[in-house]
Amino acid sequence: MTTLITGGAGYIGSHTALALRDAGKPVVILDDISTGFRQLLPEGIPFVEGDIGDSQLLQDLFQRYEIKSVMHFAARSLVGQSMKEPGTYFLANSAKTATLIQAMVQNNVGHFILSSTAAVYGEPTAIPIDENHVLQPTNPYGLSKKIIEDMLPWFEKAHGLKWISLRYFNAAGADPQGRSGEIHDPETHLIPNILKVALEEKEALQVFGNDYPTPDGTCIRDYVHVTDLAKAHMQALDFLLHSAREEKASGTINLGSGSGYSVLEVIETARRITGHPIPVQWCPRRPGDPAILVASNKKAKEKLNWNPKHTNLESIIQTAWDYLG
Ligand code: UDP
Repeated sequence: MTTLITGGAGYIGSHTALALRDAGKPVVILDDISTGFRQLLPEGIPFVEGDIGDSQLLQDLFQRYEIKSVMHFAARSLVGQSMKEPGTYFLANSAKTATLIQAMVQNNVGHFILSSTAAVYGEPTAIPIDENHVLQPTNPYGLSKKIIEDMLPWFEKAHGLKWISLRYFNAAGADPQGRSGEIHDPETHLIPNILKVALEEKEALQVFGNDYPTPDGTCIRDYVHVTDLAKAHMQALDFLLHSAREEKASGTINLGSGSGYSVLEVIETARRITGHPIPVQWCPRRPGDPAILVASNKKAKEKLNWNPKHTNLESIIQTAWDYLG
């Protein structure tokens, strides 16, 4: 029952590969190292360097390793870049995923977990956001994932594919044992950028906007620990594997803490943990940033029995900081 992890050299994929390995489950990683990092590849897991859009490679891999399920992380994920290069996102995310799923159904690989995003919702009309919220992505990145979500029921109808799409809110933190952590190049995310200031790699943290309709004027986000995300992937796969034939197992599930923190609250917590004053530089709003994104995680709790253990701001920032130290 080997699971293929695409994008296992990336931030969330590498943590999930570790979680599966720790649980004694057989795993293979496929990654083209275009946006991932060799240093994030967990030791002792077979790694194939290649492209998720290469049907022949996929077929060989599925047969050689007797793959029964796929967790699909490999993707482009920079909102700003997607605004400038939408085609790159539709090709790398939507089109290549169609190739991947087509190869799955042709090779009887019947279980699929998608790495999706809160960006499929767009500007929220209600907080917290539940899975029935309207989907109106405001950038090509979010749309590229929504397109995949739209394809999945058709593969299910025609070929019986069982799938779960996990819509992450703000993934953050690092493996508590220090084996993996958050690396991106370029880095656009809040917590890693704050920690760069604490490490004095940057002089000040640029804060994008202080005039949002929130108590302190900065954006509010729902931060979820990457180790809890990894656990949710294992639970989602178990759920698909063990659900009864007649049960409606496939679907979309939010992964978030259910609580929101403003940019200034995150900075304040990081000041306490790092002991660094973390100077800020006020900047204009970043295009496309909604004021508040907070998940309803009721469905994850009920359907997957998901119980996030590391998702509190202190533990998120502490583990991210420990990884860098
Ligand atoms: N942010 C910021 N400075 C940074 C990076 C992010 O002020 O260097 C803000 C950003 O505008 C947003 C929040 O922090 O309000 C979270 O941004 P991030 O890129 O981490 O995640 P997103 O919510 O965009 O997926």
